[in-house]
Amino acid sequence: MELITPAAEDNAPIPNLSLATVAALTPPDIEVSFSDDLINPLDLNGDLKEVDLVGISCSTKTALRAYQIAQAYRERGIPVVMGGIHPTALPDEVLEHCDAVVVGEAEESWPRLIDDFRRGNLERIYKQEDFTPPEEIPQARREIYRAKDYFPIDSLQATRGCPYLCDFCSVRRFFGGTYRYRPIDAVIAETRSLRHKVIMFADDNIVGHPRYSQHLLEALIPLRKWWIGQASLAGLEDEAKIKLMAKSGCKGVLIGFESLSEENIRASRKHQNRPADYLSIIRTLHRHGIAVWASFMFGLDHDDKGIFERTVRFAIEAKFFSVNFPILTPYPGTALYERLTEEGRLTDEHWWLLENQEAHAPHFHPRGMTREELREGWEWTWREYYSYASILRRFQWEYPPTLVNKAIYFPFNLFQRRFIHKKVLGGERLGWTKVPWKTRRANQLKT
Ligand code: SF4
Repeated sequence: MELITPAAEDNAPIPNLSLATVAALTPPDIEVSFSDDLINPLDLNGDLKEVDLVGISCSTKTALRAYQIAQAYRERGIPVVMGGIHPTALPDEVLEHCDAVVVGEAEESWPRLIDDFRRGNLERIYKQEDFTPPEEIPQARREIYRAKDYFPIDSLQATRGCPYLCDFCSVRRFFGGTYRYRPIDAVIAETRSLRHKVIMFADDNIVGHPRYSQHLLEALIPLRKWWIGQASLAGLEDEAKIKLMAKSGCKGVLIGFESLSEENIRASRKHQNRPADYLSIIRTLHRHGIAVWASFMFGLDHDDKGIFERTVRFAIEAKFFSVNFPILTPYPGTALYERLTEEGRLTDEHWWLLENQEAHAPHFHPRGMTREELREGWEWTWREYYSYASILRRFQWEYPPTLVNKAIYFPFNLFQRRFIHKKVLGGERLGWTKVPWKTRRANQLKT
């Protein structure tokens, strides 16, 4: 069986945890191979692996590529199944391109699918009745991918879901309203087994539950790992928690600030963010040696043409380690998608099926400016934030340099600047495949 991650334009070379989990759910007598289309682009007109079954992990941004890959295998008579966030949101669309879909989590449905496949009795839709009890989440089989193709970092998951309700986010669609946490012993045992010093929590929100995160952080301290992860601002209001995070090895957090505007925050239901508190939380994190990777999105209903300059000014003042500036994207299955559809503001209801979809963004009509103005302001923001002057001004001169700043701030930001000029501003595709250590050999694991 072949498991495949289709290439996404904006993915970083970090191994796909969900397919390593699917591999762990696969009976041990089945031979599993893995291909990452980002690292080793699949040649769909050339030789493809001769396998009995293909499983593709599919997000909305990779859906088109996933369909192309599925078609190539199916033309060779090999059945294809797909799972992930896009098949969960749009199973009927995805079923037009493959033989079966896994809707939602796979812990119970994947072994059932494999049984049915062995009996020649594959159904069209696999959906488990309940969400997976967190103690039944298996340890990922990371052996399926070749570590040297990726950043020297291991990812793992302690929690699933998120307690919040942001209207643009598809996490709720996938995990329902649940927020579940794995037993701390299981997370620590898995962490101990990881080969790299640096780990990334793939959780949507590592500090979503105060007591659980407190216990997890305390348990991490003796392991002396360094970690990064996504955190919500609501979990970072307490300096004692930030101090504990630092003690547990936290070197950086990814935070979705989304907007400086209270109205935007309210309208997108990201109530846990309070723009007035942003700077004090950021400075507390910095004081404890934790770098901040921020995300601000553009195109929200209360954005006007001045939003780009205000955001860049704030982001430089805040001295973020790095910032991502996405254009608001209406993902299918989200409340945002439904609202924009009702308001007749989508430019294409199936924008994910467009070739080079990034070039067509925004996929909706914004309120406070034209689509062209949004696009121009967005490009200006990237250019400005990753200018040499901004990179210099953002360095943490006034605090004792944190480890992350000391070691990787300049190389990372210069790499990011180059990537942005090529990919975001230059429109060059698949820039990540030019990482220096990239190799073209596919992985294979025989069991
Ligand atoms: S806090 Fe993050 S993960 Fe949770 S719903 Fe909002 S955007 Fe999604």
